[in-house]
Amino acid sequence: MKKHNFSAGPSILPQEVIKQAAAAVLNFNNSGLSLIEISHRSAPFVDVMDKARKLVLELMGLENKGYSAIFLQGGASLQFLMVPYNLLKVNGKATYLDTGTWASGAIKESKYVGTTEVLASSKDKGYNYIPKNFEIPTDADYFHCTSNNTIFGTQIKEFPVSPTLMVCDMSSDIFSRELDFSKFDLIYAGAQKNMGPAGTTLVVVKDEILGKSGRTIPSMLDYQIQIAKESMYNTPSVFAVYTSMLTLQWIKDMGGIAAIEKINNEKARILYAEIDSNPNFIGFAAKEDRSFMNVTFNLADESKKERFDSLWKAAGIEGLKGHRSVGGYRASIYNALPLESVQVLVDVMKQL
Ligand SMILES: *Cc1c(COP(=O)(O)O)cnc(C)c1O
Repeated sequence: MKKHNFSAGPSILPQEVIKQAAAAVLNFNNSGLSLIEISHRSAPFVDVMDKARKLVLELMGLENKGYSAIFLQGGASLQFLMVPYNLLKVNGKATYLDTGTWASGAIKESKYVGTTEVLASSKDKGYNYIPKNFEIPTDADYFHCTSNNTIFGTQIKEFPVSPTLMVCDMSSDIFSRELDFSKFDLIYAGAQKNMGPAGTTLVVVKDEILGKSGRTIPSMLDYQIQIAKESMYNTPSVFAVYTSMLTLQWIKDMGGIAAIEKINNEKARILYAEIDSNPNFIGFAAKEDRSFMNVTFNLADESKKERFDSLWKAAGIEGLKGHRSVGGYRASIYNALPLESVQVLVDVMKQL
């Protein structure tokens, strides 16, 4: 039986996508060859890469607007370094919003590259909210934020207006809600939360911001080289890119981001409604900053843990355990998780 998969990442993918990907591993496009045994420079795979890059810009409404989409390796974690390498000018300054573990990771790497200022942090309250009253200095080279904090379950609902370049780690809520993506100069996302399997990272960047840092950038870390080589400076992770392409096509076929967002809103609404009305549960994140992707909560009475755990396991639910740094529970309700799975979880919560 297929489990109700609430894993935080790697995480659920649409069942159709998994079937198509599995078929392509056995026989890609009826070629008599596996997807994972052909040259990445063969025409059928070049088509896959082109299609994936095109779908990204199309879904984001960024076609013909001076943006490039590339698929890289090294995870979102390598973007923590690539962003300052490419955008932090020699003698310049980078600014960051510290909203949790991933944001802190990005800040750490930026400090290796140059002057890095943290404008605000929610560390004082265990990262359970999004800081709002801060000003982005006009002389900063860029402002970096994390749209959705996967571990703590908070999400930026309204992005600050930035007088400088706007960079965002959207790893765990990419393609989950409509945004004016043209307000961002660089967006990155590891595939394995909301877009595909582990092994590739999407970067969407405005071309005109590149090449201005004044530093020498090693080739693999240079966005301009990666763009010029169309994501094939080195061998791309073919399976991860192919499966991401299938997921992007699935989003498009569902009616695009707007249609997915409607379902996501409904899933979040019914789950948070249960947390708020059921005295057995306490939500972790500040209400106005609650994530619509990672729903974090605790038991009011820890002695009910064993019973709750056995109830959800018996219902075929998987991956509900909170991150090791926070504890409690985390239900990741990414794009591919059906509404029905959330209903199963809510029913289990009612039984406690
Ligand atoms: C998972 C995650 C990362 C790290 O991704 P890797 O691909 O493992 O490097 C970074 N940022 C956010 C918001 C994440 O959820």
